[in-house]
Amino acid sequence: MSKRRTPSMMTTEEAQRQETYIKQIRMQNDLEKSKTSKQKHYYIATFGCQMNAHDSEKLAGMLEQMGYQKTDQENEADFILYNTCCVRENAEQKVYGKLGYLKYLKDMNKDLIIAICGCMMQQDTVLNIIKSKYPHVDIIFGTFNIYKLPELLQTYLETKETVIDIWNEHKDIVEDLPSIRKYKFKASVNIMYGCNNFCTYCIVPYVRGRERSRQPEDILNEIKELVADGVKEIMLLGQNVNSYGKTLKDGISFAQLLRKVNEIEGLKRIRFMTSHPKDLSDELILAMRDCDKVCKSLHLPFQAGSTEILKKMNRKYTKEQYLELAEKIQNTIPDIALTTDIIVGFPGENEEDFKDTLDVVRKVRFSGAYTFIYSKRTGTPAATMEGEVPEEICQRRFNELQEVLQPIVYEKSQEFYGKTVEILVEEKSKNKDSYLTGRTDSGHLVHFEGDTSLIGQFVNVEIIEAKTYYLIGKLAN
Ligand code: SF4
Repeated sequence: MSKRRTPSMMTTEEAQRQETYIKQIRMQNDLEKSKTSKQKHYYIATFGCQMNAHDSEKLAGMLEQMGYQKTDQENEADFILYNTCCVRENAEQKVYGKLGYLKYLKDMNKDLIIAICGCMMQQDTVLNIIKSKYPHVDIIFGTFNIYKLPELLQTYLETKETVIDIWNEHKDIVEDLPSIRKYKFKASVNIMYGCNNFCTYCIVPYVRGRERSRQPEDILNEIKELVADGVKEIMLLGQNVNSYGKTLKDGISFAQLLRKVNEIEGLKRIRFMTSHPKDLSDELILAMRDCDKVCKSLHLPFQAGSTEILKKMNRKYTKEQYLELAEKIQNTIPDIALTTDIIVGFPGENEEDFKDTLDVVRKVRFSGAYTFIYSKRTGTPAATMEGEVPEEICQRRFNELQEVLQPIVYEKSQEFYGKTVEILVEEKSKNKDSYLTGRTDSGHLVHFEGDTSLIGQFVNVEIIEAKTYYLIGKLAN
């Protein structure tokens, strides 16, 4: 675990205000600890995407500053926080189920504080359900004001009444929140928030608001501090990183930002996600080619192959444009690993449309893909579209997609066989004792036998076995 903090860099009044609450709560907790000898613990459950995971790192950072210590045992915690996601409806059901269990914990421990935040809270219907069915939740906040956690907690501690603070839009981007990283050697950095694209199946623009980019200096300073703290690999995060800078006065592009990040001394690898094909410029492809630290992997969701379906999805590109773009990227950066997202069974998808999806898979030859059967997301335009595809047809198409996709992914993986590649060692293997797990520049997972002292280091491994979704290697140096 690594803590990061730059008190001298607090750039907004808001952050300073929160600093005051952090100190107040810290004092109360320290005082209580000196009387009872009991350390207070926090537990955070994170649902959903990397943006949420990164928000949770910031929330954890604030909680630790306030004197709470992390626990992985919910029943040991004095403060429980659920950071929710609403991209898929079944994730919501899971949250409701867990909230029921928290009632039991609260009955056992009246001092337990329960908080819930994240995308789900940005929806009025969800908020009403929480208020009416789960009154044991003490603090509720949304996606735009996570930095206010100290103030909300202090308000709750003073009033012991449910605190609800949900904003419908962003105000300022608050810089320099304390943050707890899972890994000492790699970190995520938000470069922008929100999305303007309104893909018709997606709830994100409604719950994360409009696009706004962080100032390049703030991003570069944050990365420099991370590097000084031991970080070797960074992931630049945004819902649509390719349109980074469009909301800034001085109009810096994502490609320009990437070139600046590439110059940071001591940093070894740069990754980014997510890229929208419609905004992926030639300038960016060239920057990726030229910048030696930018990893040779690109996640470029195409979602559906049929131009007709893409139109219904409001993706703003055609099948031909996507194929052209993929080809251009592969020609310019020959060793790039392209990965993607694919949805089958979008409303109105017929057999011809589905064949277009298979055609794109065959032509681009992806190194990996997240594949989904379309699931209705209440509150999005697609949820009320006609032409629902019956479940059994969706399932059959999904299976067919796997039959085409998997052999390609396997063949791409085989290209590594016998090669020696550099990997950043991340952790102990979850499946095999004495094995470690790392990632290649291309994002491929490699398991190999090695000592835990290698975690956080770059090592060379020779690939001795190539499976569809991972590689097996042996130390080459
Ligand atoms: S680009 Fe589309 S899918 Fe991605 S977050 Fe924005 S609206 Fe959702």
